[in-house]
Amino acid sequence: MDHGAATRVQEHIGDPVSETPPLDRDDLEEIFADIQGDLRYDHELNGCLNCGICTATCPAAHYYDFSPREIVQLLWTENLEGIYDAMQEKIWACAQCYTCAARCPFGNSPGGLVMLMREVAIKHGMESAKNVLRPFSRVMLKLISTGNQLAPDMINPDHFADWGPNIAKVDAPLKLLRKAIPMPTLNTTATAWEVNLKTSVELYTIWEMTGVLDQLEGIDENLFDVITDIMDEKREDWEDFLDEQEDDDEDD
Ligand code: SF4
Ligand code: SF4
Repeated sequence: MDHGAATRVQEHIGDPVSETPPLDRDDLEEIFADIQGDLRYDHELNGCLNCGICTATCPAAHYYDFSPREIVQLLWTENLEGIYDAMQEKIWACAQCYTCAARCPFGNSPGGLVMLMREVAIKHGMESAKNVLRPFSRVMLKLISTGNQLAPDMINPDHFADWGPNIAKVDAPLKLLRKAIPMPTLNTTATAWEVNLKTSVELYTIWEMTGVLDQLEGIDENLFDVITDIMDEKREDWEDFLDEQEDDDEDD
């Protein structure tokens, strides 16, 4: 089958794209180009001996059908179809602990490469990314709208039976205990700590400017709309506050 221009690697090992790929070859090429085009790619992939040291030390490989050696080999041999296939499930097993990066004799970072593949999966709106990230929508909402990931009020003893006897601590009078903490930003249970309006708006602007919100929109449009509404209000509140300050300064 003539696939047009082959890459340098494929000239030596043959074209890995099958007769019936799951996506058009152009789409597979585009996905790989996005991974390979990232600035981090050349730092995290220097070659691969196929030695398997990364997999031998990988905690995720012990529990899942996942091997960092396999992921690195797919990238190193530019196996477009295999890369796409791995992005459907396997890449989401990585715990991002980077034990592999500390062990690889080539100085590769398989965990870093997995991170790149995940980002590209999100960029391309892959179902695997949507499925994996769906359970985290509440955390994303909390994180972006309040600057906190988890709050004491989110922990319900009925939902954390696996904590065993430690769950009794959640039943403690947290509101009262929190009020006793000298730092005022910790006197709340609605968030882990209070993030002031200015910081919250600045964080949101960073997520906006760095493309995080665009990625979120591609993965979960409803969540994006909810967060945008909340943060638009916060921005207006911040603008109003600044206007008031300006008026006060003029009056003085
Ligand atoms: S970063 Fe991922 S691939 Fe590397 S050792 Fe940890 S779980 Fe395994
Ligand atoms: S990525 Fe490194 S540790 Fe893993 S198989 Fe290749 S050379 Fe070996």
